[in-house]
Amino acid sequence: MELKRFFVDLHVHIGRDSRGRPVKVSGARNLTFGNIAKECFHRKGIDVVGIADAASPRVIEDIERLLDSGEMAEIPGGGVGYRDRVTVLLASEVETREEDGGSSHHLVFFRDLARVKRFSRRLAKCVANINMSTPRCGMPARGLYEMAHEEGGVPLPAHAFSPHKSIYGNCVRRLSEAFPPEILARIPAIELGLSADTDLADTIAELGDLTFLSNSDCHSLPKIGREYNEMLLDAPSFDEVMKALARKDGRRVRRNFGLDPRLGKYHRTYCPACDETLRDVDPPAVSCPSCPDSPVVMGVLDRIVQIQDYPEPRHPAHRPPYQYQVPLEFVPGIGPRSIDRLIQEFGSEMAILHDASEKDIAAVVGEKAAHLIIRAREGTLPLLAGGGGHYGKALADAD
Ligand SMILES: [Zn+2]
Ligand SMILES: [Zn+2]
Repeated sequence: MELKRFFVDLHVHIGRDSRGRPVKVSGARNLTFGNIAKECFHRKGIDVVGIADAASPRVIEDIERLLDSGEMAEIPGGGVGYRDRVTVLLASEVETREEDGGSSHHLVFFRDLARVKRFSRRLAKCVANINMSTPRCGMPARGLYEMAHEEGGVPLPAHAFSPHKSIYGNCVRRLSEAFPPEILARIPAIELGLSADTDLADTIAELGDLTFLSNSDCHSLPKIGREYNEMLLDAPSFDEVMKALARKDGRRVRRNFGLDPRLGKYHRTYCPACDETLRDVDPPAVSCPSCPDSPVVMGVLDRIVQIQDYPEPRHPAHRPPYQYQVPLEFVPGIGPRSIDRLIQEFGSEMAILHDASEKDIAAVVGEKAAHLIIRAREGTLPLLAGGGGHYGKALADAD
């Protein structure tokens, strides 16, 4: 059997339901279930998209309406199909709390709507507002994983190193401190998050057996696909994606596409008192040189250096390459109108980022912009690292 390539972004948030009621306050108004499928189909070239708020009853209502109208249909291998072009995987991001106070986010994936609904009803009993994105369940991570397993879900750590809400960033130095062996053995993958990459994560020995996911964790339509995974699958379905995470029967992540981690919001340690990202301090920066007593927001790089087993990455044989990309909205001087024109011309953002020639791009947005897009593709734009919730920047100067 010949496996095919699919582009997969497994962490996208819903802003509003189709009636305008909020699901994620910081999410864009037009980030509805239906619009996400359309954006993936028409602009991004994403084949499989994971919706992280599928356990919200407001979202469940939307899904049921789209299923009833025939615009979407549950597919045999699990997941929901949109016009035979995009598969939506149903997931729920949940916040957990360890006994000592550390908080972390986790994504739980479900095969079908019936399982999501059962999980949603159970989760509703331990959260304040089940309608809203990433509810706090008050349980430690291992409690959530037990509950998810009982309901047929597949849980895994989200943005595993981010400072405020993640398993390594805020809770433990080793997964084995948070999970008993029988649960640990069932975790197929971790999500790297925007501020980390494979080179950084492979300095931690216990991650060698896990698959790495690069997902966008986006709260607006244009940011879908800023990170994604290229997978080898027989078909775009829940069962096939889960096989790829477990690296079974040849299914696998073939390449991770993601931001240079310096462009992420939490790459380096940040001092709120000085409003300063500590780019000049050798990692790990654990305090601010100017005000050593005030609390800092640890950078992902700094945290990983603090807890790593090896100073250099040791990639297991199965680890796929990590392809850096600078999404168009990070390229200096490219505005939303240029992006629209480019997508109209080339079909998807991915075609522009990775395939279109400089000459063809220049015909649409001019030579200067085309040159910057090509330099972004080649990784030669100078980058300023992000921190403390502020994205890093690609710079146009130093040409
Ligand atoms: Zn999260
Ligand atoms: Zn999220």
